[in-house]
Amino acid sequence: MTRRLSKEVRIGNVTIGGNNPIAIQSMCNTKTENVEATVNQIKELTAAGCEIIRVAVPTVEAANAISKIKKEIEIPLVADIHFDYKLALLAIENGADKIRINPGNIGGSDKLKAVVDAAKERNIPIRVGVNSGSLEKDIIKKYGGVTAEGVVESALLKVKQIEDMGYDNLVISIKTSDVMMCVKAHELIADKTIYPLHVGITEPGTLSSGNIKSGIGLGLILSKGIGDTIRVSLTGAPINEIISAKTILRTMGIRKNGIELVSCPTCGRTEINLIALANEVEKLIMNYDYNIKVAVMGCVVNGPGEAAEADLAIAGGKGEGLLIKHGEIVRKIKEEEFLDTLKYELDHWSDC
Ligand code: SF4
Repeated sequence: MTRRLSKEVRIGNVTIGGNNPIAIQSMCNTKTENVEATVNQIKELTAAGCEIIRVAVPTVEAANAISKIKKEIEIPLVADIHFDYKLALLAIENGADKIRINPGNIGGSDKLKAVVDAAKERNIPIRVGVNSGSLEKDIIKKYGGVTAEGVVESALLKVKQIEDMGYDNLVISIKTSDVMMCVKAHELIADKTIYPLHVGITEPGTLSSGNIKSGIGLGLILSKGIGDTIRVSLTGAPINEIISAKTILRTMGIRKNGIELVSCPTCGRTEINLIALANEVEKLIMNYDYNIKVAVMGCVVNGPGEAAEADLAIAGGKGEGLLIKHGEIVRKIKEEEFLDTLKYELDHWSDC
């Protein structure tokens, strides 16, 4: 896969675009005004692999909270602004590493210029975000409805507007909830601009449907070498977005770091609580950056065979199971020890 070469853009301590790795983003679902809750969530997401975090800035209190949040976190913070340019100015003043605006809803050219000037003064990037849901009426009319072409035209017009104000420290995001339209829009915009692209499918749904839509949409877009930073939007706890983003990037061979989890679907032979175990292990492995495969299998009939390719595995029996390392059975362990044993093995993995 040949990667689309985009301009490098620095967001706090992370650089996207160029040959830099595709950065994983998420968005807090805490009230930004609640500094403690927001910091806690950002720390949890950072530990899981989030590299850039976005927070909503709907109030003056939220904008002012940014400086306090920033003191406690290690990853760049993006302020998400809608409608009120003064909040954008305040977010920038409070140290936001990037601001996300839709130039079409910030209140006119003068107000946009004020935001652009403030971003320029601190040299922080502006993410120009366009969603199919907020497409201008004249563009909808021109293309006879909401189309990929219309979304791209809208985004490029807004980018031009900011360029004409003398600023080119930009990232573009175009999102549509129609997955195939989103793919087409990214294909269309990819060679029409040099700016890095933040890719994601907007409002894809709950964990199950959202993961499928994002997996297909992002998979198709990324497979064309398009995308400099991604967010898998999901209705639910943001930690799931990080798990999904890492899984997508790993599955596509784009990222090597991070543990791959293999688990069996369970069947009538399963005699351990494998579903609960797999879910716990999924959370556990987020904390390690090894390029290895961990398997949790339901039975000792097929488990060892199916786990043979994994670096570390458990094959369950009745109330107990086999610990398997590099395809070799190490010992029997009790069911209640499964999780702690895997954690111990992973904590000491470099010793193996
Ligand atoms: Fe069933 Fe065993 Fe295969 Fe799991 S590993 S699906 S329990 S046969």
